Parts: sequence; C-alpha cells; structure tokens
Amino acid sequence: MDSRTGRVDQSFELLVKAVRRVATEVAAGHAADVDSKARFPTETVAALREAGVLSAAVPRDLGGAGCSMVEMAQLCSTLAQACGSSGMVLAMHYIQVGCIARHGLESAFFRAYLRELVQHQYLLASMTSEVGTYGDTRSSVCAVERSNGRFVLNKDATTGSYCQHADAILVTCRRDKEAAASDQVLVLVRREDYTLKQTTSWDTLGMRGTCSPGFHLESSGADEQIVPGAFADSSAQTMVPYSHILWASLWWGIAADAVGKAANFVRGQARHNPGSVPPTATRLAEVSVQLQAMKQNWQSAAQDFDALGEGEAGREALSTIGWALRLNNLKMSCSEAVPQIVHRALQIVGILGYKNDSPFSLGRQYRDSLSASLMISNDRIAAKSASMLLVFKDTP
Ligand SMILES: Cc1cc2nc3c(=O)[nH]c(=O)nc-3n(C[C@H](O)[C@H](O)[C@H](O)COP(=O)(O)OP(=O)(O)OC[C@H]3O[C@@H](n4cnc5c(N)ncnc54)[C@H](O)[C@@H]3O)c2cc1C
Repeated sequence: MDSRTGRVDQSFELLVKAVRRVATEVAAGHAADVDSKARFPTETVAALREAGVLSAAVPRDLGGAGCSMVEMAQLCSTLAQACGSSGMVLAMHYIQVGCIARHGLESAFFRAYLRELVQHQYLLASMTSEVGTYGDTRSSVCAVERSNGRFVLNKDATTGSYCQHADAILVTCRRDKEAAASDQVLVLVRREDYTLKQTTSWDTLGMRGTCSPGFHLESSGADEQIVPGAFADSSAQTMVPYSHILWASLWWGIAADAVGKAANFVRGQARHNPGSVPPTATRLAEVSVQLQAMKQNWQSAAQDFDALGEGEAGREALSTIGWALRLNNLKMSCSEAVPQIVHRALQIVGILGYKNDSPFSLGRQYRDSLSASLMISNDRIAAKSASMLLVFKDTP
C-alpha cells in the first residue's frame, strides 16, 4: 500500500498470483473443516485481505486494482477450486463493491468509503432476501424511513451470507413507507450502524462456509449512505450481471476441482497399468467437453460485459431484454451444469469419491454445487425469461 495515495499497488497479475497462493496454501487446507463445522473461512478471508484482494473491484483512481469482469471472474474461479464457500464469499463481496463503484460515485460519501475499503480491506455482505418476498430481489417489504438527514432501516432477511463477519451490508428496501414494493433503493449499513439478531439456522447440504442464516437487522445512519438512484437500475446494470457472471465462474471452479480430482484418479490408474488407457479416461474426455463449454459460457459473457465499457450506452444495453435473457440463460445453464459435471466426476472416481475420508472425496463439491440452481431459483428466472420471450423477437 502506498501511504501517500492509499493505493494498493497491485496489477491483476499480482492479484491472481496471490489468490492462487491463498487457494493452495490456505483455503484448500481449511475447506473440509469450514464445511464440516459450517464455519466462516476466517483464515482464507484474512489472507485475501492481507494480499489486497478485497479491493480488486474498486476503480484505480480510488486506490483499487480496477479489475475487469474477466479478471474478477478469474479470481473467484481460482479460489473456488480450493473452497467453494470462499469463492462465493469473494464473488458476493465483489458484487456489492460493484454496486457502489458503478452507482455511487457521484456521492462524496461513497467515493470516500471506497478509498477506506481499499485501506482497511472491508468485506461487504448483501441483504436482498426478505421474509415475505423470498427470492424476488426486485421487491421489498421493508422501507427506509428518513428524517432530519438520518434514516432508520429494519429488515427481516431470510438468508444473509456472512453478515456476522462483514464490515458492512448493502440492504435493499422500499424508497419510503409509501413506495411500491418494486420502488427500491440500496442502503449501505456499516457494522457500527446496525444490530443483527439471528432468526434461523444455517445447517445446509452445501455452501456451509458462507454462514447464511436469516437475520433481523435494525440499523440507522446518515442519508448519504443511501446509494444514489433507483435499485431498478443498479440491479439490471450491475447486481444481476455481476451475480450471474461471478457465480457462474466460481461454480465452474467447483466443477474444475472435481474434474481435476477425477483426472488425478485416472492418471493413477494409468500408472498402475503402463501402456494401456483406462476405460475411465474416455469418461474424463467426455466430462472435459462439458467443463470447457461451461467456462466458455461465463468467459464470453464476462468479455462482452467488459466490452460494453463504463459509458451510458453500455449501461443502457444492460437494461435491454437481450442482455437480461442472456444473463438468465447463463445462470440457468451454468447452475445446471455444475452438479452434472461433479456427478460425472464422481462416476469416474467411484467409491473413493463417495467416501468422505478419501483424498478423492467429492462430497463437498457435490453438496456445494446443489446450491447453484436454488440461489435465486431457476424456476423464478425461467418464469421471467418466459414472459420476456413473448415480446423479444431476436435470438437471445
Ligand atoms: C448459498 C446461498 C447464499 C445466499 N446468500 C444470500 C445473501 O447473502 N443475501 C440474500 O439476501 N440472500 C441470499 N441467498 C438467498 C437467495 O438470494 C434467494 O433468496 C433464495 O435462494 C431463494 O429462496 P427460496 O427458494 O425460498 O425462494 P423462491 O424463489 O421464492 O422459491 C421457492 C420455491 O418456489 C418456486 N418458484 C419461485 N418462483 C417461481 C415461478 N415463477 N415459477 C415456478 N416456481 C417458482 C421455486 O422453484 C422454489 O421451489 C442465498 C442463497 C444461497 C443458496
């Protein structure tokens, strides 16, 4: 860190090297314990902080690394190959930073906040889900209530990943008490602004390290903590594209981890029988086709997102039906592909993949992969695509 400018002096090459090191030296070693105890990956997040990875999404002129979508996706997919929960925490954090960096910069408060985030490597969480609205991120029951330059915001969230470990939470809510359910804003509440009461448990099949139970949030703060503009725009132009591309990249990381184990298993078989190709090698060749197709799917979306640039035209493009359908398709196809790929890897490895105490165990990867289609239900996404396709005439 340059103490004069507050800039973390890091290129993407240094960041990706750091994430590779954190993945192999820290996250991989703790992944089983994080999973079995459903505990936060404290060591991994501390190592990411230490390496300045949490400010990768902050623009360069505010001291961050200004990483592109392609670059952030590579960081998330690299980490997820060692620990899916850690990859998800990093992705969710980048989504929140992206919302501030792309929609808050006209505000002196948010520019200063991002500089602070770089300096302190703050971790940001998200509360979009709510009792009564569930997976529909575009409607809220709770409302922000403003008076004399201050606000009060209380929310009952059904699922709040790592909220107890975060430095701040971005919360969706109605603009005011009279606003319609879909007339929402995003509010940044910092740790000192809120109290959290855990309302449900997080004893899940997978993604256990994300620590995502329900919470009752009570918060208050200054009006300037409300992200300028409507959440309708920050959702379409940032939260949805960031979520679907970064989630797809980390789900790919989980699939790649499973296929990597299967490949090691097949090579081991080949070593036992020199000169012959084991039958499982054909299955490995087949699953690698699906793995490659999945990677190309999120990479091309990330490249096209980056090509839109930061200007108004790019933002408008993201609000079109064409982009909405493309991102929905990306989410549905990658979330369906990940458990299929892990399942095929398991068929290759066999009983050693099924056992929890074997070096080829695929239990965690399998269970983590099952969250993908539920995390914003694919049925809900398909229903939205279905109504868009009634009016959209081009090929998505
Ligand atoms: C690992 C993980 C981490 C998460 N972290 C967070 C977080 O940090 N913050 C946060 O706010 N939320 C978080 N969530 C919650 C997530 O954003 C969704 O709110 C949640 O997964 C949706 O829950 P649901 O299945 O009850 O909701 P719903 O979408 O309401 O789905 C319930 C059921 O209804 C069906 N359904 C819904 N709509 C339709 C439709 N139109 N047509 C047909 N069937 C339909 C679905 O198939 C499903 O069976 C997380 C979820 C997961 C899995």
